[in-house]
Amino acid sequence: MNQTIYLDNAATTKISDHVLACMLPFLKDSYGNPSSLYDLGADNKEALTNARQQIAGILACKPQNIFFTSGGTESDNWALIGTAESRAHLGKHLITSKIEHHAILHTCEYLEKRGFEITYLDVDEQGFVKKETLMNALRPDTILVSIMTANNEIGTIQPIAEFGELLQDHPAFFHTDAVQAFGQIPILPGKWHIDMLSASSHKFHGPKGVGFLYIRDGIDLPSFLHGGKQERGRRAGTENVASIIGMGKAAEIAAHTMEERRQKETALRDYMISRIEKEIPFCHLNGSRKQRLANNVNVSFAFAEGETLVVLLDMEGICCSGGSACTSGQAASSHVLRAIHLEPDTARGALRFTLSEDTTKEEIDYTVDALKKVLAQSRRMNSAFVSFMKINRKR
Ligand SMILES: *Cc1c(COP(=O)(O)O)cnc(C)c1O
Repeated sequence: MNQTIYLDNAATTKISDHVLACMLPFLKDSYGNPSSLYDLGADNKEALTNARQQIAGILACKPQNIFFTSGGTESDNWALIGTAESRAHLGKHLITSKIEHHAILHTCEYLEKRGFEITYLDVDEQGFVKKETLMNALRPDTILVSIMTANNEIGTIQPIAEFGELLQDHPAFFHTDAVQAFGQIPILPGKWHIDMLSASSHKFHGPKGVGFLYIRDGIDLPSFLHGGKQERGRRAGTENVASIIGMGKAAEIAAHTMEERRQKETALRDYMISRIEKEIPFCHLNGSRKQRLANNVNVSFAFAEGETLVVLLDMEGICCSGGSACTSGQAASSHVLRAIHLEPDTARGALRFTLSEDTTKEEIDYTVDALKKVLAQSRRMNSAFVSFMKINRKR
């Protein structure tokens, strides 16, 4: 294969050609400010309205529940900090899980320094937050619960609707980081009693640097950015028009193709997992086998080091990730893999492959073959592996 095999769609996705085509006019001739009164601006305002409707359509909510932001990180920060500041008089306790993205966890650390108390919920060995764990952590002064819809490293999909139901009896707001899930699985914030939801365009074949926060009616979340009257006074700054339009189109495409993609990717994912498990000794699938994003394969290889394998696979033309893009380059093993109780050695040997609808069976076959090759190479140089094999041969 001469072309790059891109299996890192949880880190970011390729912008779709249709999406790019929709954006180009707004990067060139249609440059008016949507807040202006003349036609050049009004056209842009109309396009923003359309994008808001496209996104609201997929979530079955009202367009006015959608607030455009600069991406998942801003949406997460806004939901957490905004809630903490505006509800501090009701309590200073927040609940989240140990396997959240750093956009949530580092925001929680920031809030801790400002006098808030955070409970980080344990997960089980597949990465699930247990309903009882959440229930036991709730306190009268809990003002927010934030649990991600699907995990970016191991793909575990949480029973978000059940958490929403449970929280009906508690005044705490319920936020979910749906950055990995939006466009991949159906999400119904109204029906599932979600108060706030974060998503990011570049995770569903839209442009980078744009996302949104869903805020249900009745929540008066204070502004995070102060300035002009954009986004009904809730998020100041001239809108990233072209990108928002691209995100709207990407959301529309994701909604239309969701079921077909899910089936195709699930089949390829399970094929890849079964080939790895059959043909590669000393490996372990991380996460849940069933309640798992259709495109996620995360496997730990004993006697190997994830980062090394990533580099070796790159030389074979394959892009993948050692657990999480955010942890790569850092020596410490991923907080998610630690939270699911992997031994440090097992966690270090983790690789994450995330497929897209463009992924082919040929690419998967090539990847598994390459993986077998580089793994054998790298294990041969692993002293623990060499002595393990010697001992076992003597028996
Ligand atoms: C990528 C990601 C984010 C951050 O989104 P950006 O748009 O890149 O800021 C947050 N949460 C999860 C689960 C993610 O996968």
